Amino acid sequence: MPVDLQEILDDVHEAVRPLIGSGSVADYIPRLAAVNPDHFGISVMMTDGTQCSSGDADVEFSIQSISKVFSLALVIAGDGDEIWQRVDREPSGAAFNSLAQLEYKRGIPRNPFMNAGALVVADHLLSLTPDADDPVLDFVRTESGNPDISIDALTAASELAHADRNSSIAHLLRSFGNLINDVDAVLDRYVRQCSIAMSCADLAAAGAFLARRGESADGRLLLSGNQTKRMNAVMLTSGFYDAAGEFAYRVGLPGKSGVGGGILAVVPDVCSICVWGPGLDSSGNSLIGMAALDELTSRTGWSIF
Ligand code: GLU
Repeated sequence: MPVDLQEILDDVHEAVRPLIGSGSVADYIPRLAAVNPDHFGISVMMTDGTQCSSGDADVEFSIQSISKVFSLALVIAGDGDEIWQRVDREPSGAAFNSLAQLEYKRGIPRNPFMNAGALVVADHLLSLTPDADDPVLDFVRTESGNPDISIDALTAASELAHADRNSSIAHLLRSFGNLINDVDAVLDRYVRQCSIAMSCADLAAAGAFLARRGESADGRLLLSGNQTKRMNAVMLTSGFYDAAGEFAYRVGLPGKSGVGGGILAVVPDVCSICVWGPGLDSSGNSLIGMAALDELTSRTGWSIF
């Protein structure tokens, strides 16, 4: 760990402080619309297991689309490259909940991180783990070492009650034969994984296997080095809705954002980072989170470019 990492994180916190509360919280899920926007947290988990944080790094928030990283990792760990028969790995340049490209791509989503792709991944994971309640929850508990992480039932209920769009995507996928299980069962699993509540500290720890070439917290190889390389590549190209290019330009790391305002980023062989600020920019990424990671990679030289 850089000896002065704590100082760097505190400096980054100071630098972005004027942005606290900026942006707009996601409003299409009522439970998320009610979140207090005045938060900022950052946590870094080094590959040697040391962790440094600043701000509201222990406050829980809705991980939303960041969960898509964990579900994809579980599917690749369980079934290798099979998922790539069902999902492409190209940036979409479209909104996270777009259906537009599904029609002419005959039901093959552009990537596993837009909702269409994540629903196919959730379907695949359901087929692999039919008897588990919430494999993504089990996974983040194990990897973060925090058994108290849970699903926020109110967020899940709120999201399920406003799932018309995801439901349409799931039915369209099924009409093309690219959703095998019952639509409601897949939607339920998907909404539950998105509604997991975690802190920056927990998320940085849970995502650290991506910085450790696939080695999980207990030293087991969850993904091979090559699979981890490929996961990180898909995060770099498709992890930020229609602003993946902007994230590469400003931050230069693999990562995944969620509409709860969290961003998980990976510096391969060095560390995993989680930032959180609920206010989103026009692409749906945390406004202060982007700025903080921009500052952090500029100060540390941690961009992969
Ligand atoms: N659960 C959200 C949805 O499907 C995830 C959105 C996101 O974080 O990108 O609408």
